[in-house]
Amino acid sequence: MKVLKFGGTSVGSAESIRAVTDIIGSQSDQVVAVFSAMSGTTDRLEEALLKASGGDSSYSSVLDEIEHRHLSEAGKLLNATDLSEFSHNISGLIMRLRNILEGIFRIGEVTRRSSDMVLSYGELMSLELMHAVLSERLDNVSLADSREMIFTRILNGDERLDYHTSEEAIIRTLPRDKRVVVMAGFIATSAKGYPSTLGRGGSDFSAAVIASAAGASSLEIWTDVSGIYTASPAIAEDAFPIGKLSYAEAQEICHFGAKVLYPLAIQPVMLKQIPILIKNTFAPDDKGTLISKGSSGNGGAVKAVTSIDNICLVSLTGGGMAGVVGIASRLFMALAKHNINAILITQASSEQSICIAINQKDGERACEAIDGEFESEIDAGRVRPALLEKGFSIVAIVGEGMKYSVGVSGQAFSALGRNGVNIHAIAQGSSELNISVVVRGSDVRKAVNSIHQEFFSAVNKVINIFLAGTGNVGSALVEQILKRAGYFVSEYKTEFRIIGIANSRKMLVRSEGISGPEWKSLVMESGRSTDLEVFKEEMFSLNLPNTIFV
Ligand code: ADP
Ligand code: ASP
Ligand code: MG
Repeated sequence: MKVLKFGGTSVGSAESIRAVTDIIGSQSDQVVAVFSAMSGTTDRLEEALLKASGGDSSYSSVLDEIEHRHLSEAGKLLNATDLSEFSHNISGLIMRLRNILEGIFRIGEVTRRSSDMVLSYGELMSLELMHAVLSERLDNVSLADSREMIFTRILNGDERLDYHTSEEAIIRTLPRDKRVVVMAGFIATSAKGYPSTLGRGGSDFSAAVIASAAGASSLEIWTDVSGIYTASPAIAEDAFPIGKLSYAEAQEICHFGAKVLYPLAIQPVMLKQIPILIKNTFAPDDKGTLISKGSSGNGGAVKAVTSIDNICLVSLTGGGMAGVVGIASRLFMALAKHNINAILITQASSEQSICIAINQKDGERACEAIDGEFESEIDAGRVRPALLEKGFSIVAIVGEGMKYSVGVSGQAFSALGRNGVNIHAIAQGSSELNISVVVRGSDVRKAVNSIHQEFFSAVNKVINIFLAGTGNVGSALVEQILKRAGYFVSEYKTEFRIIGIANSRKMLVRSEGISGPEWKSLVMESGRSTDLEVFKEEMFSLNLPNTIFV
């Protein structure tokens, strides 16, 4: 069984829904399909919430627009009978939503509970549509209610996934005899039995929990890009999809700003070593990104450059901090008590300052929490009140190979320096999976692009050649490749590497390449007796990218 999750853009129009139907229809295994709300719907519901709680009755027209969009896309997909049933169901959902928002409008207040209740309607409506479309086109389609399978509980004042309760419920209730099971992502039930959600972008998480609990063979995340890119495609034009990533690398990339996959979604499937495939609904033949155990092994030390915006820096400084044990732990306890997440931490070795990067929206609260904790030290003049600076971004470079290669951070910093980007703080995780720098928000594009170009555009493309036959033509080809190597590198950033040569008597395969003017005698002296079947097998087992057999 496979779990396939389709994001907002994948279910956002009649055309993309047709593509989703084809993808699901072409699967040979049992499929559990998890759907997000239509793209933009959750944002519109948040807008309606804000309007209603602020006493603005135009929340009602937001609902009209949402209803209209669902009906209009359904109109392009469903036959008359199904469309009339679908319209009836959508009107029912919109009516209930209107009632809840009217209550919020009258009270003038939103709670986490009422907000989750409203936001959950986006997924309820898209599920209604996907169920109707898939049932019309495919056999044996059944609906499952994720609110009976995904549970949350309060942790640090917030609704968080309750994995064990969810796992038990999924094992108990997920239908196993249907070819296609359709479910809503994002929505869940709280410990008290109220509607809750897994947070924005959380449909990936729903799918991951189902895949993990049900022991799926794989989790496929179908979205609007062809995988996890070397940088956000919206920021770096020359970013490209990464073929393979380890779970740890993917976690790091997604924690540090790549919105393409909800970072918490990796853990549950990693525990069971279920592979994750990120695929493009709009280009289903593209390979996508495979996330699995172990590192990819190919490519450079740096896998991706990511960024997080809307960051502020909070610093605690003072002569009275040096050598005093427990300052840092008190600071982090104070933040934890107020449920504030520190994204990056640096401490100068003089121990006279600690600087943390946090979400900008938490800035004032963080300063209050810190000033409260250090009240007596501040009164005594040993530390200064927390300093808040806004308008920053974090840029991170991620890759498992960084711990084996020297000079990665130097290369990144000099690229930033050459491009005039000022670095305000630096941190390297002890896992050496990640080096992060804090830059001005206005510099983030330049910073991501200059680091990206430094590590990715400078890399020569390697073409690997296997050659059978070193008569006149074969030998002339080898001579030309070797002679013009410099030209191809400087003109085309392309390196031709001759990996294998076979003639009627000897054959030689070297993964690092065969080069130098003595190549012919090298093959004759170091080579083995020719067996073209073995030569071919070795070529396939090396499995190098960009291979040409001549
Ligand atoms: P979905 O609605 O399918 O869940 P999201 O909008 O949540 O899709 O995530 C996909 C988007 O993530 C892409 O359109 C892309 O702009 C953005 N993104 C940011 N960083 C990256 C990255 N490194 N690789 C791929 N996509 C990224
Ligand atoms: N619809 C929700 C959101 O927009 C969940 C998701 O799409 O993953 O955040
Ligand atoms: Mg998403």
